[in-house]
Amino acid sequence: MPSEMSIGVYIHVPFCAYRCAYCDFAVVTGQLGRVEAYLAAVQREIGAFRRHWGPQTVGSVYFGGGTPSLLEPSAVARLLEAVAGLGTLETEAEISLESNPDDLSAERLAGLRKAGVTRLTVGLQAVDDRRLEALGRPLEAALGLEALERALDSGFVSVGADLIFGSPGQISDRWPEEIDAVLAVGPPHLSAYALETTSRTRLLRAVERGALPAPDPDQAATLYEVTCERLAAAGLERYEISNFARSGHRSRHNLLYWQDRPFVGFGPSAASYFAERRWTAPRRLSEYLRTAGRAAGGADVPPCSSDRLAGEALVFGLRLAEGIDLEAIERRHGAAAVARRRPVLERGVEAGLLLGEGNRFRLSSRGVLLADEIFVDLL
Ligand code: SF4
Repeated sequence: MPSEMSIGVYIHVPFCAYRCAYCDFAVVTGQLGRVEAYLAAVQREIGAFRRHWGPQTVGSVYFGGGTPSLLEPSAVARLLEAVAGLGTLETEAEISLESNPDDLSAERLAGLRKAGVTRLTVGLQAVDDRRLEALGRPLEAALGLEALERALDSGFVSVGADLIFGSPGQISDRWPEEIDAVLAVGPPHLSAYALETTSRTRLLRAVERGALPAPDPDQAATLYEVTCERLAAAGLERYEISNFARSGHRSRHNLLYWQDRPFVGFGPSAASYFAERRWTAPRRLSEYLRTAGRAAGGADVPPCSSDRLAGEALVFGLRLAEGIDLEAIERRHGAAAVARRRPVLERGVEAGLLLGEGNRFRLSSRGVLLADEIFVDLL
């Protein structure tokens, strides 16, 4: 476990080989020629942070993207060296890296492990060629499963698979087969997200002009329930709305987000929560490269109000299956901010969306499907 005083570090790697139809992340394609400038910018940003905020103990590092597996292992090692320069990188630190199956040759996997990566997530997203096509991912389902198998054989402490459900035209009856195909390979962690079509993506435009059917929220709710049942039967416990793991394989880094713990992000669009401040780096790569390291992240950002932080702690904490402890949030952010929200929680219990016992609250199985209805009133 990371120590109580440690922070998590997120590094956003913006490079992708192609842009998937549903993606609205801060990514660039066809720009691997800018990797060197990007690495130097992250190093400058980390250096400026350390000079301003002093040495830190780092308990977890998470390379997200974008497609971090496009980086050479030597580049990953260089970034980890820069993170170690923040102060202390704990010897048992969890070092996670998101990957795309088509990058995972045996050689790349061995290189990433040697560079220090302990936990690899493999972005399958679908295990059905028609669904991959609908998602605009030029990949083959069978090759994705083979890559997952290679990852599991490569000596990582943990490996996870990521799936998306509710894609346009998805046939509900085939979803259990997709889950079973992944379970047969055996990753100890699985993330399953409902497809979102709220931002201006290629997929949303195709839906709007009638080229693809609109995702159906009722179908997504059914697919989610099937996911939970299937994974529970296979021994993968749901510990967060979209995350399932065998014992000992929860994402320690992602738990920081839900447990109101500090993390610092580097790279374009990376978000941070540190010293009661929240800030986000510039989203555009060119602006990021131009400005990184000029000032320390968060240096010119005022602390957030206790009221805002309490609301966020409640919403993020309720995503966890174990829920929240109001007393702990009260100790950290003050009694007034919690008292103001207690009636919302009690109404949630009356409506059957929350289960409450003393100071502890968690989402009911119906509440998990309708979580946003509660969250909006708690912020
Ligand atoms: S690989 Fe991931 S980050 Fe890159 S375009 Fe596809 S969804 Fe977006």
